[in-house]
Amino acid sequence: MGERQLAIGVLGAGGRMGRALVEAIAAAPDLALAGGVERPGHPACGAALPGGLVVAANAAPVAHRADVLVDFTTPEALAETLRAAGDAGCALVVGTTGLGPEHHAAIDAAAQTIAVLQAANTSLGVTLLSALVEMAASRLPDWDIEIAELHHGGKRDAPSGTALMLGEAAARGRGKQLQALRLRPHDGMSGPRVTGGIGFAALRGGTAAGDHDVWLLGTGERLRLAHVAEDRRIFATGALTAARWLAGRPAGRYRMSDILGFSAR
Ligand code: NAD
Repeated sequence: MGERQLAIGVLGAGGRMGRALVEAIAAAPDLALAGGVERPGHPACGAALPGGLVVAANAAPVAHRADVLVDFTTPEALAETLRAAGDAGCALVVGTTGLGPEHHAAIDAAAQTIAVLQAANTSLGVTLLSALVEMAASRLPDWDIEIAELHHGGKRDAPSGTALMLGEAAARGRGKQLQALRLRPHDGMSGPRVTGGIGFAALRGGTAAGDHDVWLLGTGERLRLAHVAEDRRIFATGALTAARWLAGRPAGRYRMSDILGFSAR
């Protein structure tokens, strides 16, 4: 007999990431789908899922069957997700982006009683990129930093959660909060750029799964650190790696870099 399969509940099961997760779980021998959840009224509610399940409109019963919930939905759905995971004592991976300070505070509160891993980007490459950006920003303290990202036209937030995460890594490298270094968009600016600040640019269109370019701009030279997501399946694979790692961990808040063993806080 093999080991017991880890039961994963997918929140946002009718979305781009949710569908990729359902597929990846079906293909993984060590994982079982505990259920899929969609926003009430979404056309996917009631649709068939592997294992004879149907997409539900309520996270609570799925949380009770799951070892880990994986959330790729919207920030508005987070409070209900945290409640369902907390009530069931179920671990949670939050991949949803566009989170504000109130969402982060709610995650911190939930992490008192359950294990929560929140990541604006669950890919291995971006997790490493973040550590490289932090190091580069700290070693090149006076260089300007620009972060450019490209995503499909359906993306709702800009700049992307990953771009902001990379900005935070750069700011951390300089011993500051991103807020203190973040520049207003250059579009429409009427004066010179603030030296040493961190600027953002967002491009939207087509089907791009996500490109991120971090430029460090010095005098007479520039360094460019870049990541290209060719397919959103990398985020599903990464989120499921996170779910496997998180299952059975004590309550607390975790990050992708904890999994890879190079947390640079
Ligand atoms: P999407 O719009 O295709 O899917 C989101 C789904 O969530 C939709 O089907 C929507 O109906 C559903 N939803 C909304 N409210 C819900 C609720 N209360 N309960 C259950 N389902 C609900 O978007 P997507 O491209 O799949 O991305 C989802 C989120 O994940 C976005 O915030 C995106 O930026 C983020 N994302 C993160 C990563 C990462 O690596 N962390 C990668 C890709 C996307």
